Order: sequence, then structure tokens, then C-alpha cells
Amino acid sequence: MSVTVKVHAKQTIVFLAYGQRRAPLAGSRLRDSAVVRGFLPRSPGRALPRTHQGASSTSRCNLRATGSQPTSMYAARFFDAPRLFFFFGVVRLVSMSVEMKGMGLVPPGALPGEVTPSAATLASVRQALLDWYSTAKRDLPWRGSDDPYKIWISEVMAQQTRVDVVAPYYERFLARFPTVEALASAAEDEVLGLWSGLGYYSRARRLCRAAAMIVERYGGIFPAFPDACRSLPGVGDYTAGAILSIAFGQREAAVDGNVRRVLSRLFPVATPPGEVPAEPATPGSLSRKALRALATRLSSPARPGDLNQALMELGALVCTPRRPRCEDCPLASTCQSQGSAAVSGIPARRPRRATEPWNHLAVLVRSSQGRPLLIRRDSKAPFLPGLWHLPALFLPVAGEALPLDRFRVFLAKRWGIELTCESPIAVVRHQITYRSIRASLFPGRLAKDLFQGADVFWPSDAELRRLATSSLVTKLLDAAKSL
Ligand code: SF4
Repeated sequence: MSVTVKVHAKQTIVFLAYGQRRAPLAGSRLRDSAVVRGFLPRSPGRALPRTHQGASSTSRCNLRATGSQPTSMYAARFFDAPRLFFFFGVVRLVSMSVEMKGMGLVPPGALPGEVTPSAATLASVRQALLDWYSTAKRDLPWRGSDDPYKIWISEVMAQQTRVDVVAPYYERFLARFPTVEALASAAEDEVLGLWSGLGYYSRARRLCRAAAMIVERYGGIFPAFPDACRSLPGVGDYTAGAILSIAFGQREAAVDGNVRRVLSRLFPVATPPGEVPAEPATPGSLSRKALRALATRLSSPARPGDLNQALMELGALVCTPRRPRCEDCPLASTCQSQGSAAVSGIPARRPRRATEPWNHLAVLVRSSQGRPLLIRRDSKAPFLPGLWHLPALFLPVAGEALPLDRFRVFLAKRWGIELTCESPIAVVRHQITYRSIRASLFPGRLAKDLFQGADVFWPSDAELRRLATSSLVTKLLDAAKSL
């Protein structure tokens, strides 16, 4: 019963907030019910659900007579004052119960491996964190903004990337795409060009898809509902929690690697001997579910965004993976790992995937104006898909010698290119996830006319800077230039 009421109440708010002909949750039971009652027109070809097929003839007459009016008018007729009071009353009751749980007034059901600090402990940690954050936070370009679009871009860019690297990219990106509409209408190539050098290009592609979805489905307004937010491409629990708490002031946990480390050290759990926890990240650490539950209980009713950022900042600046600075930590008096010799081992790290050595053989062909030949890589290529790159071959290392014969045949067959020298003019090292790449650049020339199409480009220096390329291309060309 309570679940049904919650769903209806949520949809009521969406209807009233958006006031569109097609509500974002259209197709729901509520919409069908409104259609049967004659408050909304039936979409052509859309059958009513079986539960409504016995609707009265009066309702069907209403359906025909109603015509097309804005949804807010139907909503206003359907949700008269007593119904609205009832729905909002239930919503408030549900949210109060969640808040009481978060404040530790109602003990939550214990999860396997869960730690349950008292409400007083949580309150003192919360206050210490917020006080510390007010004075110690770094001055980052996205700090202080409550614009969900800006927060979203910063969170996506900062995944797997240091914030000092992200800052200039973020500013360039926001200058070119200041709104979600601007991003949604941009060509993917241009977005990738601005992303060039940040790595993990699939993040940029998902950003483009999500921007288009926000514009089409939500009229350019970032969805403030957790489920809608999480349904955007590339937005998982962490990103959704960060956006909802910072931009919308919702008590949503945002557990990234930094937060996980701080909470695991603050309230460590011991895994009983012989027991394998349900879904632990590593032995001896809290399960993901237990971490989220703990972070939700710790969240601040008044400043949920600041509290999440304080935890992240503490993990980045003080409670670092190795040699945490416990003497400077605002949580030292509460932390159960403080001063422990084993603190650097909490949480235990997953064994790293072994590094794989790879060879990368590339060829530099220059035009008569000295421009380098670039080819767009296949969108399904395992390395750098869809990016502009020198004609090249990636191969796992097998033995000492470079597989030059194979490279020569590949170049001739694929592009009609031949090497003009068998010694590399530049050799650089590059890392792509767990692959350690030795990249060798050879000089070459066209042995026959190259097919000229959308996937072939001879960029000038200025064009090269705006192009969607990997930093590996820049490294190789810079190394060749310095010779
Ligand atoms: S006291 Fe040390 S281990 Fe505990 S949270 Fe602070 S920095 Fe981390």
C-alpha cells in the first residue's frame, strides 16, 4: 500500500512540475487511469491495460470529447485539493521516517557486515567533517555551484582522473558547452576533441547520449529523481548521489574510492574467520551495500552535498591510501584505525591485474605541406575506438624483435603505405589501462593514391589541437619533432 501511494505521489509531482502534454512518466498506471477517466487523450494505437478495459461508456465518451489540453489542466482536475493534501501528507510521512532512520533515531535493519555507530557518534563525525571542510576545501572551478549540469560534467571528468588534470579541461568544456542543450546539439567529434587527452573516451560518448536524453525526455531540465538520474547513460550510484546531494540537497550517499577508504578506516569491520562476506570489495572491508547504508546514515540533513564532498576531500587530502596524515585528521578522536600500523592496508586492496606489455607500430606520412596523415580508427577497435590516429598496429609483445614484416604487409594492404626506413624515428612509452605500450614511430610514404574519404585527414597544427585524438599521437609527433 505504502509503495503504491509513494509511486502515485511521485507521479503527481512530476505532472504538476512539468505541465507538459507528455509527462515524463507517461505510460504509467496513473496516465492510463487518467485516460479512462477522460482527463487525458488516448494516444493513437495505444491499447488500454486489461484492468481498465471495463471502463464505462461515459468514460469513453469523455475520451472522445476531451480533445487535447495541457497536462497541467488535466492534473488540476484530477488532483483536487483533498487528494493533493492526502498525497503530500503521505510523502511527508515517508520522508520523515527516512530522515529519522538517517539520524539514527530508528535503527535500520542490520546488513551482513554492517557497523552501526550510535546517533551521537555519527552526529559528532558529521559536525567535525563539515567544520573541517569549511576551512580546508580546495578551490576548484566547480566548487560552490549548485548547477546540476556543471556538477555532472565535473563528476564524470574526475572519474579515474586527478582533479588538477581535470580543472583546465572542465573550464574549456564549460566555455564551449555552457548548457545541456549546447552539449546535446554538439557533434560527438567536437566533444571528443575537447576530451582529447583525458582518456576513457567512452565517458564522453555517454555524456553526449545522456545530454540528448535530458533534452528529449526532460525538456533540458536535469532529472532530480534518483531513478531517472540513474537511468542516464554513464550515471551510476556514485554520480547520481553526488549530483542529487550537491545540486538538489537530497540525502543521497555518494561513495567513491575516497569515501570508501575513509569509512572503512573510521569503522573497520573484522570478517569472522572462514566467512566470505556477501559482496565485499575486499576482505575485511564493508560490503558496498553496508557502505552505502553507513554513508546514508552519516549524511547531513542540512548540508548533504557538503558532507559528501567533505568525505571525498578528506580521502583525497588527509586519509590517503598510503601514509594517511592521522595527526591532521578532524576525525582522529573517533577513528578506530587511527595510529594503527596496519591503517594503510584498510581497506585491503584487490590484487591488481597484471600489466600486459604491448607493441605499437605507427607510421608518419607527411603531405607536401608537412601535415601528418591521420586515419579515423574503427568505432569497434579494441584500442582508441573512433579516434583519429596515425596509421598503426597494436600487437601483444612476443619476443624482443619488433614484428616489422607483419607491419609492412598490413600497411601495404590497408592503405598502400610503405616504410622508408626500418629504424624508428621515435619511441615512447604509453599506458592504456593495464596495458603498458612501447610505441615506435617509423617514417613512411604513400606508394599509391590513398582513398580520400571521411576517415582520412591531413590536419594542420591548429586542427590537430581540436581533433579527437589520443595523447599517444601527440606524444609520438612531439618526439618526432624534437629529433
Ligand atoms: S584518523 Fe587517520 S585513518 Fe582515521 S580517518 Fe583520519 S586519516 Fe583516516
